Amino acid sequence: MRLIFLGPPGAGKGTQAQRIAEQFEIPHISTGDILRQAVANETPLGQKAKEYMDRGDLVPDELILSMVRERLSESDVQPGWILDGFPRNVSQAEFLDKLLQEIQQACDRAVNFEVPDEMLVKRLLGRGRKDDNEVTIRHRLEVYRAATAPVIDFYRQGDRIVSIDGSQSIDHVTQTLAIALERT
Ligand code: ADP
Repeated sequence: MRLIFLGPPGAGKGTQAQRIAEQFEIPHISTGDILRQAVANETPLGQKAKEYMDRGDLVPDELILSMVRERLSESDVQPGWILDGFPRNVSQAEFLDKLLQEIQQACDRAVNFEVPDEMLVKRLLGRGRKDDNEVTIRHRLEVYRAATAPVIDFYRQGDRIVSIDGSQSIDHVTQTLAIALERT
């Protein structure tokens, strides 16, 4: 099972990815988590990425793409994976398509989590991560609309997208998702 989770910040991608990853015993690959770890460990990647993350901007592709290439070459991802937070723009999506061809893997489904903006802001303010203040949140939502939303159309073209109502309770969303994935 190879899945891509798409949706705005606060849509619940990470929470659902964790659950599905456990159920299918496949790794949950969150580019946000990898980057936060790099920042915490003060690695060269972390030092470069930090300012972008603090502002709520996308970290430059040149940093992200090599990070994803490396992660997808590790042995634990052979049975499958869930990508959460990547691809975040169309050029990342094009890169991923090429990379998957190269390593002879194919993504089964892209899942799009839909949640109204006002609910996203409320959820993110409640979460209280460092980049979860109102100004940065509004900026991340703008970045999402401009850069990431077009990725949905990218996957719609290949008929690979399924949309899920992410505004329901966590358990309800997991259930809806499980039903959608059974049809995969
Ligand atoms: P959220 O989806 O809740 O905003 P993430 O943990 O996915 O949080 O990402 C946090 C930050 O990490 C983003 O605002 C961005 O700066 C950076 N980031 C994560 N994934 C990517 C990516 N694929 N491309 C560029 N930047 C990324």
